[in-house]
Amino acid sequence: MTTRSAPRIQLVPDMPICQQDLPLDWYQEEFRPYAEEYLALPDRKPETVLPWMDRRIHPALDALGPGVVLLAHYYMGGEIVKLVERYGGHIADSYQLALQAVRHPEKKIFVESAVHFMAEAIAILASDDQQVWITNPKSGCTMEMMAKDFMIEPAFEDLVATYGDDILVVAYMNTSGRVKALAGRTGGAVCTSSNAKRVVGWALEQGRKVLFVPDRHLGEVVAGWTGVSPDDLFFWEGGTAGAAMTVAGLSASDRARLDRSKMVLWGSYCGVHTVFTPAHVEWWRARGFRVLVHPECPKVVVDVADGAGSTSYLWDAVEQAPRGAKLAIATEGHFVRNAREQAALRGVEVVNVADIPDPAFRSMGCGCATMSRNDPPHLVAMLDLLAKGTPPDLNRVFAGDSVSETTGARERLGDAERAAVVRDARRSLERMIEITERR
Ligand code: SF4
Repeated sequence: MTTRSAPRIQLVPDMPICQQDLPLDWYQEEFRPYAEEYLALPDRKPETVLPWMDRRIHPALDALGPGVVLLAHYYMGGEIVKLVERYGGHIADSYQLALQAVRHPEKKIFVESAVHFMAEAIAILASDDQQVWITNPKSGCTMEMMAKDFMIEPAFEDLVATYGDDILVVAYMNTSGRVKALAGRTGGAVCTSSNAKRVVGWALEQGRKVLFVPDRHLGEVVAGWTGVSPDDLFFWEGGTAGAAMTVAGLSASDRARLDRSKMVLWGSYCGVHTVFTPAHVEWWRARGFRVLVHPECPKVVVDVADGAGSTSYLWDAVEQAPRGAKLAIATEGHFVRNAREQAALRGVEVVNVADIPDPAFRSMGCGCATMSRNDPPHLVAMLDLLAKGTPPDLNRVFAGDSVSETTGARERLGDAERAAVVRDARRSLERMIEITERR
């Protein structure tokens, strides 16, 4: 399997395995015996955890055979990233993850330690003989949670009632399959942070109004990259407020702004990426650091940084930095910690832009707490139960599932509705792939 920018993360003896232990009642019933075994280990360091995992995972992988693939996203707690690699798995960003099934038809079982929308994107592009499983169905993306289909669709319908078919949807990868399907139905496309500029540029060339969902910050940043003036943007609310907002309820000045807008930005955001400020950037730059940021950060932060780009862009910048280089990175905290540890081995200093050792700032970077709900017992339980032929249905990922991140419960679509979601969501994903890989 090929994944760009393999992280080459090294296991070290005193590495903490898990950043925090989840309470036992957070595990689904079938996984609790594994969690109890894990929590009974005398500590959670490699000397005890790795032999326990080896005892369970090696036989499970042998039983499942070469058709199984373990996957994780770069933002997973560093420990899971390291462990997934230890068992032959692969780490990728959301674009690379989405392509795993379609690029590897010989692989039949995909076990993903990341958030739900990432697993669902693999399932949308998978063929009928490929299965996708998620190690913890309670792992959701908070940005996606503020942009569910039942929130976006009323707003979209209202916009269509006002502007007719003169509007298309560009859906960031951090959306459910149902929202990706909406994008497909409108002739729009999916995008990721690595290709958002190309996809939005393509969408604007269609000469239609673009509804960009769900990240208002990425939308605003990409608008700037593609030459859309701030005056040509309209900011729609996010979450349930977005669902309740109506064109008829706008003030006259807001209505005029909406009428002339080229892009309408849904008002969701990532709490992890919005802790950064321009003052943070200036603080590190004044101390000789090159500051690189993810475009989910507010535009005012991106505007003053030395560079901005996707997770892969940031990882590549760290890997390619010469000895003695100093980089300050603004993105998810586990990613920055992994980058800092690995860069230190090569004499490169990496810091988190929000971690400023000055009490006046009182700021700290943070990790993606929902993605980190995947931990060693979840991985062990999922593989062991798959090998035994008794995997819980709760962990099986189908296109169109609507998941409660509180309970992990899924509302599944019937066959016909699911087929329609797959058809339309594939259109938007395939459009993204076509735009991205066009030379
Ligand atoms: S870091 Fe933010 S955008 Fe990424 S998965 Fe977590 S909550 Fe979602």
